[in-house]
Amino acid sequence: MDKRRIIIIISCILITLAAAYSIYRIKLNNERYITYETFLDDIENGKVFRVFLSDSHRIRVSYKDGNTFITDNPRKDSFKEELLIQGVMVDEVDSRLQLTRSLGSLAILAIFLYIILFRMKSFKYQMQKDSNKFSNVNANQVNRIDITFEDIAGNEEAKESVKELIDFIKNPDKYAKYGARLPRGVIFYGPPGTGKTLMAKAVAGEASVPFYAMSGSDFVQLYVGVGASRIRDLFRRAREKGKCVIFIDEIDALGKKRDKNIEGGGNDERDQTLNALLAEMSGFGANDGIVVIAATNRLDVLDEALLRPGRFDRHIEIGLPDIKGRYEILKLHSSNKPIADNIDLYEIAEQTVYFSGAKLENMMNEAAIFAAKRDNRVIEKEDIDRAFYTVIAGAEKKDRSSISQGDIEITAYHEGGHALITKLIAPDNRVTKVTIIPSTKGAGGFSMNISPERMYYKKRDMENNIKIALAGRAAEEIVFGHENITTGAYNDLEKATEIILNMIKRFGMDSDIGLLNYDVLRQNGIGGEYDAITDQCKKKLDIAYTKTKKILSDNRRILDGIAKALIDRETLDEDELNAIIQEYLLCA
Ligand code: ATP
Repeated sequence: MDKRRIIIIISCILITLAAAYSIYRIKLNNERYITYETFLDDIENGKVFRVFLSDSHRIRVSYKDGNTFITDNPRKDSFKEELLIQGVMVDEVDSRLQLTRSLGSLAILAIFLYIILFRMKSFKYQMQKDSNKFSNVNANQVNRIDITFEDIAGNEEAKESVKELIDFIKNPDKYAKYGARLPRGVIFYGPPGTGKTLMAKAVAGEASVPFYAMSGSDFVQLYVGVGASRIRDLFRRAREKGKCVIFIDEIDALGKKRDKNIEGGGNDERDQTLNALLAEMSGFGANDGIVVIAATNRLDVLDEALLRPGRFDRHIEIGLPDIKGRYEILKLHSSNKPIADNIDLYEIAEQTVYFSGAKLENMMNEAAIFAAKRDNRVIEKEDIDRAFYTVIAGAEKKDRSSISQGDIEITAYHEGGHALITKLIAPDNRVTKVTIIPSTKGAGGFSMNISPERMYYKKRDMENNIKIALAGRAAEEIVFGHENITTGAYNDLEKATEIILNMIKRFGMDSDIGLLNYDVLRQNGIGGEYDAITDQCKKKLDIAYTKTKKILSDNRRILDGIAKALIDRETLDEDELNAIIQEYLLCA
């Protein structure tokens, strides 16, 4: 008989018993009552056959004529003697009542037991389910990875660094002979979408070993200890396979630096999980051929404990691709797509500064979808342009009928302001596109501003970028008045604040605040200077804003010209923008 059936049968028996007991109690309560006086009279008259005495406040009386009654129990000690003298049989315990009570108690006990057992079972099941979610290590375990270096374009330095790792995994003995040990933990760090996961897969693919992937956030669980057990489970399973690559994405979810200002340092579950990871890493032999690769967007936020020698001590940067890298990535991701002959991928690479590999891949994919939707034979420049816009700002909003003329004008001046100021103060920057076509992501329009690739940013570049960001709001204020400035500058203000804050508190670019790095101060428990920084940021932004307004006011005619062209044509490319500016400059 299966367990389910047994549980059902036991439940039925218990329910029946409980029901029987209830019915009996009801019956008992319904027994006829006689007063104590009547009862005494009946004793005197010899009518009573038997009395059931118990400690309860009632006694049950059985008559010679077969009737049964209940009456009050005075609980007098001499009472029993009196009864016996009168020739009445006395039972100390009402066996019927006793039996009923016992049965009742049993039933209640059984019900309680059943409920507790059942609840415990389901609680255990729930716990098991929760921990299974993790300790089953839904690790994406792949025995054979097809990805190789061929699938990674650019990233040449990173490839060089991991080649050694691959050789280590393949030929541990070669290194053991020299007493060298395999790096146990490697961290790939760099901005999102630069191909860290891809590179980790390629390591496994090139070394022909299984690949286990999990994300750091998967280990941080509600129940303390589950994360640690999942780590142990992951490593146990990996070890069973022998040589392999274990990939932990978003390692910062697990190994973020603890804030020294916070007493006690925080999260038990995270600490336990991290300790388990470090213990497991030191547990496998130096030349077992197991490599743990972790990825993060920011190396500087990781706990020192994680980066110590023998742990994740090898750090490989996977940065944003440079122009050559972008060109290679574009070539790779268009190799399986029909691209029109007149498309120059190098030109697209030039226009996509700061695009990650993932963004470039996404752009080419969007372009292919646009071409397919149009049923066009090949992917044309217009498909790539639209895809470019989609990747940057989201899909174009198709229904623009609800946008008022007033909003269109505000957007035209706002975007025109960004574009014009760029052309006037940062001639090295390119403005490849200005549009007032809104996107589904909520952007009213867009001005694509590309600064030249630089190794370092100068103070002047950063100040210019602040002015470019503030120019949208400045144009709105100049044209429509302070009362009519809009929420459209939300992202711009965020950007401008971020730049000025970094200049002041990280890059020592403000002479009043000086060279201190306030992040370092804070990490060492020294705070309180933030008010000074906020004041300075505000002062600097105000100055930048006033200058921006002045430049735009001085060039108001050109601003009007660009806004008008945008209202008429919705989108301007760089040549059209340059032509408008030239035309007005020549007329001036
Ligand atoms: P995240 O930090 O967001 O986890 P990531 O750095 O791990 O991102 P991946 O997930 O490896 O980035 O990259 C996403 C996709 O971007 C890849 O699957 C690939 O299509 C494309 N890609 C990124 N970099 C490259 C590259 N160098 N060569 C070819 N494709 C790339």
